[in-house]
Amino acid sequence: MYLQSTVKERVKVEGVGLHKGEPASITFCPAPEDTGIHFVRRDIEGEPWISPKAQFVKATQLATTLGSDYFSVSTVEHCLSAVTALRIDNLIIELSGPEIPICDGSAKDFYDALMAVGVVEQEQPRKYVRVTKPIYFGDGEKHAYIVPYNGLRVTCEIDFDHPEIGRQKIDLDVNPQSFGEEISRARTFGFQKDVDRLHAAGLALGGGYHNAVVLGEDRVMNEEGLRWQNEFVRHKALDAIGDIATLGKPLLGHIILFRAGHDLMNKLIQKLLENEDSYVEMELGAGLTDQAVVQKTLWV
Ligand SMILES: [Zn+2]
Repeated sequence: MYLQSTVKERVKVEGVGLHKGEPASITFCPAPEDTGIHFVRRDIEGEPWISPKAQFVKATQLATTLGSDYFSVSTVEHCLSAVTALRIDNLIIELSGPEIPICDGSAKDFYDALMAVGVVEQEQPRKYVRVTKPIYFGDGEKHAYIVPYNGLRVTCEIDFDHPEIGRQKIDLDVNPQSFGEEISRARTFGFQKDVDRLHAAGLALGGGYHNAVVLGEDRVMNEEGLRWQNEFVRHKALDAIGDIATLGKPLLGHIILFRAGHDLMNKLIQKLLENEDSYVEMELGAGLTDQAVVQKTLWV
């Protein structure tokens, strides 16, 4: 049986927010079974909360923002990426303000903090969404698919007309180890001309060389260079894994993205949820891996 899990104890991550450049912190807190993931704005009276669900995604420009009419939680995807990869089901994420800290532009600080306190199994089984029929969403040259798979797998391909990027691809089974080694440290990226434009407009004020790979016309501007030659597509996979959390349940399926970002991921998840004959909700049996259980189910 695959059981639900939460963190062993509270752990805090501090930094600045991307948009306003002001100090921001979050605290991951243990939560009882069947709670799900909740972001709580401790700085607002009444301490409103919101869960990562596709229908609560309010904006996908620059980052994924969850929100209602009177409050929001911004830049959730890097933190949720670590939570999804570590298979955490129940978690209260307390915020000091409207933004999750951008840290170094990757999921490293969130992953390290969660690994440092550890993840603990609970007593109730996990309830997976297992994709049974392919789902597609496209927009011009951008394409996104979810197809059946005995586990969680992400394939991303990007194609940028820039000498440092070009065409890059990554394909991986998502688990705590592969995420820690291959994905968690991949930073977000942007173009110098866009950074200048955003700063002039009073946006992305916390953004700079310390929390993003910044690209000039033909080179990487950061003194320290890249962490991997294909760091760009690794970060796209990181974002996609974070956006999977808006499904609201753990996914058994293979996500395939070509030139797709947060917007397409959001549409893809919504389309999956609307097509109820394309998935089943299921628990996984005792002593078997994700793969073995699904195989067994298929052979019955
Ligand atoms: Zn990102």
